[in-house]
Amino acid sequence: MTRTTPPRPVDAEAQFPGLSDYRRTSTRLHPRPGSPKADDSSVAGPLLWPADEPWPVCTAVHPKGSGNRLSDVRLQRRILDGAWHRHPGAGPTDAERAVLDTLQPGPHAPQIADADPIPLLAAAQLFARDVPDLTGPDGCDLLQVLWCPFEVHGPDRTIEVVLKWRRSQDVGEVLDLNPEPVVVGRAECVPNTCVLHPEQVVEHEYEGLLDEGLQEAIEMWEAGDDEEDDDAFDSSGPSGFDTYEEYEAAMAAARADEDDEVTYRGDLSIAPGWKVGGFASWHLTDPAHIDCGVCGAPMPPLLTVAVSEWDGASESWIPLEDRDSLPDSRISDPTGVYLGRGLMRVHTCPTTPVHPHRLSFQ
Ligand SMILES: [Zn+2]
Ligand SMILES: [Zn+2]
Repeated sequence: MTRTTPPRPVDAEAQFPGLSDYRRTSTRLHPRPGSPKADDSSVAGPLLWPADEPWPVCTAVHPKGSGNRLSDVRLQRRILDGAWHRHPGAGPTDAERAVLDTLQPGPHAPQIADADPIPLLAAAQLFARDVPDLTGPDGCDLLQVLWCPFEVHGPDRTIEVVLKWRRSQDVGEVLDLNPEPVVVGRAECVPNTCVLHPEQVVEHEYEGLLDEGLQEAIEMWEAGDDEEDDDAFDSSGPSGFDTYEEYEAAMAAARADEDDEVTYRGDLSIAPGWKVGGFASWHLTDPAHIDCGVCGAPMPPLLTVAVSEWDGASESWIPLEDRDSLPDSRISDPTGVYLGRGLMRVHTCPTTPVHPHRLSFQ
């Protein structure tokens, strides 16, 4: 099934003509639980990996035997998903609770020493034929993303991400099964296996990075929305209505209007969820310069990994095809990944994509 982002509630570039200088496309990946094959784009699916090529490992020295068993993470999610779909809100049965209680983090693999190599976890595989905003080295049509699921790497103590670019036609015999670590640092570093329904959309730069004139125009436009609402309240205080019930009904209608209020950040600038390309949101910190460590070029986000496919402020991005199935966490939070404070981005060099990538978090 395709996924279709509804048209933006306001034509942003008609409203703010200068915005056309701040436009970029992105490809929303729309991951949903499924059973992808090695020649499909996927999250955490089987990779199109040559059978005779070593699988990437983490060689950093850090505790690798302590955490959650990968099999426990998956069992826990199966139980909770099953319970929700049996009866949303009822929760797991007593027998299921007894099982869940046994799935605790701990020193599950004491035989793994801190310096032992462990296989990285397959996080995503993206084919250029599916993802128009995927730009890599010349001739490469496939990006494979793997990570070490322990948040201990580098000064910011994050997961470690490895990118592998390929020409898919060069892959001969394909590895049967992705190797996997036995233990992961935190359950939220483990993506659920998902098929993708890529869709290209238009984004506009994060508001704080627009020129001042545009920022002011957007602020005034958003404040104007508020004023209209305030006027409605002023002219219709309780005395303006025949009964208090009528006044209350009008208030409720006004509140509902406010919930639907269109904002630049929520509706017109940056698409929520997993995506390739587009802009980076800086809603939790000041915007950071992410420049290439080799050539100094500003590095746009290539892949954004998000805790959920939308939030309360970005519901206008919910695909049309999903609206009747909500609430269902397999649709709004299909991957189960929670990195940083909700967003992890992999930035790559636009001129030489094999220059070392950098990560940013929100
Ligand atoms: Zn590691
Ligand atoms: Zn570079």
